[in-house]
Amino acid sequence: MTCEQAFNRYLSLDKYERVPLSVSVHLLFCPVCRTGVRQLNRAEILVAQPLSMQKSQEAVDPVLAQALERIMSAGLAYSLPDRTDTHVSMLRWVISGLALAFGFTLLPFTFMGSWSRDVFGSSFSVPFYILCGVAVTAYCGMFIGTNIDFFVKKFGMEDSRAA
Ligand SMILES: [Zn+2]
Repeated sequence: MTCEQAFNRYLSLDKYERVPLSVSVHLLFCPVCRTGVRQLNRAEILVAQPLSMQKSQEAVDPVLAQALERIMSAGLAYSLPDRTDTHVSMLRWVISGLALAFGFTLLPFTFMGSWSRDVFGSSFSVPFYILCGVAVTAYCGMFIGTNIDFFVKKFGMEDSRAA
């Protein structure tokens, strides 16, 4: 993927749309495009600032607030639903990751673990540790896969700033 293709693909995205994996990978390895994306994000924040200020002034205006309230109470307008964020928070990822790690670490020391080891021997241990490895690998893969935006934005940007 060339810089132009990657950047055009990035620009074609809607707000809050997930960045495709190919673009994320390009951004990870291309400081030029990363800087461009960072500048776009900064510009967007700058442009949005006066808008949010205007909105808060409107809310303070009692006449307007009253008018809006009357419109709402007459059932002529729907209040905008909050943008539902389907993104899983980092804290939940950490908690579920720790639960997974503790589960696999503690299971061999529980009654069920020792019983299985005594009864089945290595035909229990070997598949168990393979399952551990597969589960942890799958977890890490999903974590990085679904949070690649985060890694690009947080860590990728810092690199380009230092360079
Ligand atoms: Zn590039």
